[in-house]
Amino acid sequence: MSEPVNNTIFGKIIRGEIPCDKVFEDEDVLAFRDIHPAGPTHVLIIPKKRHIPTINDATAEDQALLGKMLLTAAEVARSEGIDQSGYRLVINCNQHGGQTVYHLHMHIIGGRALGWPPG
Ligand code: AMP
Repeated sequence: MSEPVNNTIFGKIIRGEIPCDKVFEDEDVLAFRDIHPAGPTHVLIIPKKRHIPTINDATAEDQALLGKMLLTAAEVARSEGIDQSGYRLVINCNQHGGQTVYHLHMHIIGGRALGWPPG
């Protein structure tokens, strides 16, 4: 059974229907700058192949993809020059997590000291 078309804003970015400020791309993932940055560096990493709305929807089949997202995040942090000062990786999930786009994505936020706990 084929998947429904991914009509989220990130699905449109993957298909090239909406532009993005691309930082990195390969066959599995796309990384681009967040349009409303929460810090001097704010990059989003999204999977390209399968539409996974939230982290709750990931399965054992996605194990390698999820690892790839983490390794890509560390690589982006290095290329952005925030790996030594530090940064935060965030996956928001559903309402209480503050998720607004229902296509799995990881935030890389850095370039300033971040507060904890999050609001
Ligand atoms: P979340 O709240 O975790 O679902 O994060 C969604 C993120 O997507 C927010 O930080 C938005 O600023 C960001 N965003 C929404 N539309 C775009 C877009 N067209 N290009 C880049 N980032 C976007």
